[in-house]
Amino acid sequence: MNLFGVLDQTAARHGDRGAVFVGTRQVHTWSELRDRALRLAASLRSDLPSGSRIAVASENRPEIVELMFAAWAAECVVVPINFKLHALEMAEILDDAGASIVFASPKIAASLAPATGVTVEAVDAAAYRGRLAVEPLAPPRHTDPAELAWLFYTSGTTGRSKGAMLSHRNLMAMTVSHLADFDDPDADCSLVHGAPMSHGSGLYIAPYVLRGARQVVPESAAFEADEFLDLCEQHPGCSSFLAPTMVARLVATGRSCPANLRTIVYGGGPMYVDGLKKAMAAFGQVFVQLYGQGEAPMTITGLRRADHLDADDAALGSVGYARSGVDVAVVDDDGSPTELGVIGEIVCRGDVVMSGYWNNPDATAATLRGGWLRTGDMGSFDEHGRLTLRDRSKDVVISGGSNIYPREVEEVLITHPDVAEACVVGAPDEEWGEVVVAFIVGDVEAADLDEHLLARIARFKRPKRYEFVDELPKNSYGKILKRALREQLAGR
Ligand code: AMP
Repeated sequence: MNLFGVLDQTAARHGDRGAVFVGTRQVHTWSELRDRALRLAASLRSDLPSGSRIAVASENRPEIVELMFAAWAAECVVVPINFKLHALEMAEILDDAGASIVFASPKIAASLAPATGVTVEAVDAAAYRGRLAVEPLAPPRHTDPAELAWLFYTSGTTGRSKGAMLSHRNLMAMTVSHLADFDDPDADCSLVHGAPMSHGSGLYIAPYVLRGARQVVPESAAFEADEFLDLCEQHPGCSSFLAPTMVARLVATGRSCPANLRTIVYGGGPMYVDGLKKAMAAFGQVFVQLYGQGEAPMTITGLRRADHLDADDAALGSVGYARSGVDVAVVDDDGSPTELGVIGEIVCRGDVVMSGYWNNPDATAATLRGGWLRTGDMGSFDEHGRLTLRDRSKDVVISGGSNIYPREVEEVLITHPDVAEACVVGAPDEEWGEVVVAFIVGDVEAADLDEHLLARIARFKRPKRYEFVDELPKNSYGKILKRALREQLAGR
């Protein structure tokens, strides 16, 4: 089984219908998309073996769709790269993945080429057009479903990115579960790519292509609330995956629900109950919540559309019920299931769970134990089978849907000559969900720290605020008490 089969089937059924749109403009039919993917696949296989890692670093663009299917047709592995990363961070991922080539938007290609030894090919370049002129490859017929399809880099708490290895089977399990639990699109529907296609929105290409739903890429290549809502008026039966911050931006427009908006899947970070209620008041019953992570993409638990109807705060504040095909449990330090209502680490297993981290057996052994994925998230089940997240043991800050690992920022801050100590935590924020706040011990100006960070890591990871303090609270082992700092910020 190869995920290319998803496109193959839809091209056979709906060949002449519009498949990929930029704004309201149709760019390819399903037959054209299939043909382009197979030509790109042939060009890839002319000089690369199967299993090669094909990276894609781009703002949301239509080429991402054809490149995904091309890599799969060529029995190669897609390595999606967050376009907001610094060129040096992208280079690190390319190096770790052993990527053979990276396809990039023109803007990213220009900044990335000097930073990496990997071949960078801009998707508007003559070389790319040349690939589309070669004879198409025959579709793959015998791919082992356990073969890698998607190498998904999550920022590591240790500073180094880890590549979650996801197979054709993993992504098909995600696809089937999505169609079983959340949405039931057909060829008169659309997937509007509001969130980055290097993450959840790109993963959702599989279920929507399987049903022949249009792939709509906003003209702005980004998320603009008004443009997004306009697209949901102009295309039929629209669904989208959005980070909670994006949902808040839709609400802030003051507009009512577009006629053709069917489903908004929110998740990937906490959605506060108050924000969800406001969103439901503005747009009605279009919301579905997912809880997942790169290691079990988009699929651990969820709240269906109907679960939002007449729901109380406990239900709206939860992450819902185990998804179809996924076992979910909460365990204590020994790995034994906790009693109902008792907080422990959330673990899950099923066909959606990754096979491990790329070239990282230690991290794999720590994360996959006894057949279960240790999520690093803490939570508890109630008597209805509903899971509520309580804390994140991994300390990740999720700001506007992007994960920021404090350690990574701290490690850079600490390299500034005038910083004695640094500690980074998340603070609750109405607009962003959370923002990064850095506590600094040292004699230094915020502007100097900004400059220091901007030269080394992505802009979105930079603290929104600095707190200059004489000392950091520590326990008897000298470990900084992050919880105390978080509580201090939350108490304000
Ligand atoms: P990522 O691997 O980048 O998708 O990040 C996954 C992490 O985001 C999870 O381990 C959770 O900590 C958090 N997360 C995902 N979905 C939700 C949700 N619905 N509510 C709260 N946090 C979430």
